[in-house]
Amino acid sequence: MNEETRKATEFGADVFGAEAIQKYLSKDAAKKLLSTIQGATPLDPTIAGEVAHGMKTWALDRGATHYTHWFLPLTGSTAEKHDAFLEIKDGEPILSFSGKNLIVGEPDASSFPSGGIRSTFEARGYTAWDPTSPAFIKRHANGATLCIPTAFCAYTGEALDQKTPLLRSMQTLSAAAKRLMKCFGKGDERVTITLGPEQEYFLVDKKFYAERPDLVMTGRTLFGAPSPKHQQLEDHYFGSIRARILNFMEEVEKELWKLGIPAKTRHNEVAPAQFELAPMFEELNLSCDHNMLVMEVLRQVADKNGLVCLLHEKPFAGVNGSGKHNNWSVAYGNTNLLNPGNDPHQNAIFLTTLCAVIEAVDNHADLLRAAVAAAGNDHRLGANEAPPAVISIYLGDQLADVVAQLEKGAPKSSKHAGSMKIGVDTLPPLPKDATDRNRTSPFAFTGNKFEFRAPGSSVSCALPNTILNTVVAEAMNRIAGELEKAGVVGKVEPGKHTAAFHNALQKILQDIVKTHKRVLFNGDGYTADWLAEAAKRGLPNATTTPEALKAFTKKENIAVFEKAGVFTAREMASRHEIAIEDYETKVAIEGNTALEIARTMILPAVRAEYLEVVKAYNETDASDLKIAIGALQGEVTDLGKGLVDLQAAINGLAEAVANKDAAETLAKMGVLRSVADALEKIVSNDRWPLPKYREMLFLY
Ligand code: ADP
Ligand code: MG
Repeated sequence: MNEETRKATEFGADVFGAEAIQKYLSKDAAKKLLSTIQGATPLDPTIAGEVAHGMKTWALDRGATHYTHWFLPLTGSTAEKHDAFLEIKDGEPILSFSGKNLIVGEPDASSFPSGGIRSTFEARGYTAWDPTSPAFIKRHANGATLCIPTAFCAYTGEALDQKTPLLRSMQTLSAAAKRLMKCFGKGDERVTITLGPEQEYFLVDKKFYAERPDLVMTGRTLFGAPSPKHQQLEDHYFGSIRARILNFMEEVEKELWKLGIPAKTRHNEVAPAQFELAPMFEELNLSCDHNMLVMEVLRQVADKNGLVCLLHEKPFAGVNGSGKHNNWSVAYGNTNLLNPGNDPHQNAIFLTTLCAVIEAVDNHADLLRAAVAAAGNDHRLGANEAPPAVISIYLGDQLADVVAQLEKGAPKSSKHAGSMKIGVDTLPPLPKDATDRNRTSPFAFTGNKFEFRAPGSSVSCALPNTILNTVVAEAMNRIAGELEKAGVVGKVEPGKHTAAFHNALQKILQDIVKTHKRVLFNGDGYTADWLAEAAKRGLPNATTTPEALKAFTKKENIAVFEKAGVFTAREMASRHEIAIEDYETKVAIEGNTALEIARTMILPAVRAEYLEVVKAYNETDASDLKIAIGALQGEVTDLGKGLVDLQAAINGLAEAVANKDAAETLAKMGVLRSVADALEKIVSNDRWPLPKYREMLFLY
């Protein structure tokens, strides 16, 4: 990086990356470590001591006093336990950090969810250094901490975190891609799985947040009537960014750049008070870690600016929710396998990769749906502006046409008749910037990558990509197996396939399209027509989390992950159990919060309003001036009825909560909300105890 760039951005200043490694380690150790980071060689344990020392010196130079193994437990967030570098040796304080401290940690695992993997008497868990994600420094007002990205496993070696299976799935996909590329006569190259996660979020002023127990407890509003203006004028999307928000964004970017996170794009999103941050894509594992830091930095910087960053998938009813668009691709050497090329060879590889994804997504739509299942996302998926819970693939008109021709196996046109078969030999040049973008598809091809739009804004990218990698690897392996069986591989030179290879590949791809075309859908995914059509095609449509999560318990699905070496049956069962428990706990918290707000804030306000009007009615009735008596009677009736309905809705919810029935709790919360929201529209503004949508969404 040149001086000018560094000065302007401080990019990577708090990362123990190539520059720091070369400065703080011997030439030999630096070379070995960099090779490990690039995935070329496993870590040489003999350099651990020197690396630890160099890392410590670098961290001390940058003001750190503590270190921590930083990991991604199954809570869905990040975990850290700080230790000071300080030690007392022979009565003297010294600063120490050993190779062992770097490579393994032993945090007490008993308070992290394990879904039954680790019984509480065997509380030991291990964190193991992941050198492919560089160490970094996290700062607070009074100091700084060296953070070492790690994987987190139980004593038995089973994964207690999100990173371990992700790394395993990357290995699996990498091996599958290599096997497939070998069929195309390619030499051994490095496989890079890439991810660019676009992060959506809301900002609200802290003063409103503090007055909304629902936001504080659950991250979303459980009450709130729609404001007269919300997003119907579509005047917020890409609108000019308010100065306060721009200042916030700039501070966020500075922090992220220091951490080596390439935050690139910032803009207003569709809903009022909604925004997006998009980084440049990076290697999957690193990108997942970085996204966790992005969410943390967004929250912290918001707090410093008198704002609160809401990462919940649906903080406000009636306006858009927030997602995390998962832009994913695979590269072999320097070639993006999802890049349609200009030469026939690259096109054949592109179409094969495309078909592998189509097969994978159709075979395992239920798993991809399960990967994004969470209490918050249930309110977003299928709610008018977000992709539905049906997983389908959007290819765009041009590519859909190519795929349709591939199915027929017919020559593209009379001009090319005879020699060329669509797809394997040739592909019409595709514009890199697909113009016909479809925002309504959960899984869209966007020029040179797939964009999985279903993941929610608050979750880690790890699980969706672990699943995506595994199922695509399965399809690639199957295709490679077919080619190997046909005995057509191994003899090919790049660009010089034999006719036998052509025919075999043509047939495989044709079969894939025939078998899996039901998952392709180019139309509007938001419509009821599509849901009906999807049902006819037999595509799964799991609308709730418990329903979606069943995919993790199916025998055939467990077998896919076991075979791929990504999850053991026990690891999958544990994930299922944790996800269900997380769901039920979150719904119970919401139910209790809604009850508390209704009983202690809304009901008293409505009662006071009612009494005031009753008093006015009585006084009017007793006086000689009775002009408004009819109006007052009407108000008494409306408020009285509201009060009765409110009480009944509270009782209904209380029963559902007491029965620990999640579905019933959600249904009864809906009833209570509609009664309360109607009352919000008639009770005096002064008396309404909660900040309103028109305040939270517009006054920031
Ligand atoms: P939008 O989808 O909103 O139009 P962009 O086209 O700018 O946004 O890209 C969205 C994201 O896709 C960015 O994070 C970008 O870095 C990422 N991206 C681009 N190419 C790839 C790729 N080959 N692999 C993974 N992500 C990619
Ligand atoms: Mg996008």
